[in-house]
Amino acid sequence: MRILVVEDDKDLNRQLVSALTDSGYAVDSAADGEEGYFLGDTEPYDVVILDIGLPKMDGISVLEQWRRANRVMPVIILTARDRWSDKVAGMDAGADDYVAKPFHMEELLARVRAQVRRATGHAKSEIECGPVRLDTKAARVTYDGQQVKLTSHEYRLLAYLMHHNGRVVSRTELVEHLYDQDFDRDSNTIEVFIGRLRKKIPSDMIETVRGLGYRMQAKAEPQKSDEV
Ligand code: CA
Repeated sequence: MRILVVEDDKDLNRQLVSALTDSGYAVDSAADGEEGYFLGDTEPYDVVILDIGLPKMDGISVLEQWRRANRVMPVIILTARDRWSDKVAGMDAGADDYVAKPFHMEELLARVRAQVRRATGHAKSEIECGPVRLDTKAARVTYDGQQVKLTSHEYRLLAYLMHHNGRVVSRTELVEHLYDQDFDRDSNTIEVFIGRLRKKIPSDMIETVRGLGYRMQAKAEPQKSDEV
């Protein structure tokens, strides 16, 4: 999952980037409204964290312009504690949630997980796919109850496939959602990581759909509708 942080307070921006990175997300950040607007308009993000008070273009305007351009990614706005009117304006401009400053990082991370869940159609923080279970809160994967040791890139890839289980995910989509903008992107590396994951969980759970991408599903429960 890839997240955009738009926050002009340097310390807070750095704290957000580091907490989100530690939680297993690919993170891009912007320090003003114009740069934030541009990134959100051109790159696919799974969640955006958007400050309201920003230089060059305020957060409400950024959000309004994204929504006008049919950018539908979940957006969590950061508001000042005593500015209830910002929360109302933000929600009306198309925000999905808000966090008032100052906030506990744990609360923000929980709200990010909730937005990712909602956007991918999951109600629970644990996602099961046959014998493989993803605990999104602990950023941990187990197979038959045993923890699977994963590098951060392997975790990101498996977490993305599990959030979208049953659906074919293209290599381009994976590259766009697993790496931040500064990463040297090469879709061949996806293949390498898929190969490694297949050694850590039942190899037939990640199916290669020729010319289209990859699909993760529990083989014990084939979905008839996929055979059409
Ligand atoms: Ca600010």
